[in-house]
Amino acid sequence: MIKQYIEILRQHDLKKTPKRFEILRIMQSKNTYFSPQELWRMLKQKFQKIGLPTVYRILQQFQDIGIVYSIRKEDNQLYYFLCSTQQDHHHFICRKCHKVSCVQYCDFENIKQLVEDQLQSKAETHFLQIEGLCKECRES
Ligand SMILES: [Zn+2]
Ligand SMILES: [Zn+2]
Ligand SMILES: [Zn+2]
Repeated sequence: MIKQYIEILRQHDLKKTPKRFEILRIMQSKNTYFSPQELWRMLKQKFQKIGLPTVYRILQQFQDIGIVYSIRKEDNQLYYFLCSTQQDHHHFICRKCHKVSCVQYCDFENIKQLVEDQLQSKAETHFLQIEGLCKECRES
């Protein structure tokens, strides 16, 4: 699994450094979202001198190449999660266990058309954050 991320790094000329690798390893060990501070705490067990800005920088690099996504929670903090799916889709976020699941659906083409028809404007990006309770959390 981690190999597919390494491959995407390689395609974008990002070297597999120990810190990048460790972030990938931590993030893919659980299907949940992480705060940069949380990742930083875990990374410090291995890299005593790592600074928080390094964690932010690597997360930004991963975001730029499309393997990490960010979400904004009510506390106004950004959280990050890993996803290797390249096609357009969305994510369901469990507010209880923080698990992230891919939702293979995107109707941006329809929204674009609506914006064109109603406002004669051209939509370029969109953002959709779906939150709720996952199957396990609903049952418990
Ligand atoms: Zn859950
Ligand atoms: Zn996804
Ligand atoms: Zn969409």
